[in-house]
Amino acid sequence: MSYYEDVSGIAEDATQEAKDNCDDSMEVNEFAIEFVHQSVDSHLTYTRDAYMALMESSNPDEGIESGGVDLGSCDSASQVVTQLAFYAMYQDVMDKIKFHEIEDYFDTPVYTCDNDDCGESFTQKQCDDNVADMGDKCPECGKGTLE
Ligand SMILES: [Zn+2]
Repeated sequence: MSYYEDVSGIAEDATQEAKDNCDDSMEVNEFAIEFVHQSVDSHLTYTRDAYMALMESSNPDEGIESGGVDLGSCDSASQVVTQLAFYAMYQDVMDKIKFHEIEDYFDTPVYTCDNDDCGESFTQKQCDDNVADMGDKCPECGKGTLE
């Protein structure tokens, strides 16, 4: 697996996990930060992977620019590289996540009930939670169909 396949993989996992586990779009950012943090951490277990990440990253200076890496606390080159690589890969993954799409998933209505007495609209998240789709019965009134 190339570095960017790994970055894309973590970004896709974070997107899916956020859709499945968050209750609304307000929770998405915090959830993604935590998920990506842990995923990148476990990806960079070996110093070799950290060197690779730093060479391939689009954000190699992130650890310096953000002030996140404390060079004074490092006593070996591999510690420096591992810390720099963490911030670099973390940023690469965050740049890859389409946060607007995730927000739309929670916030933008995609189907409306055709029963005039109901007229309820549903986001994709509500539809997935109710296992409803276009043409299915409305989860709210049970009479209309979603269109
Ligand atoms: Zn309805």
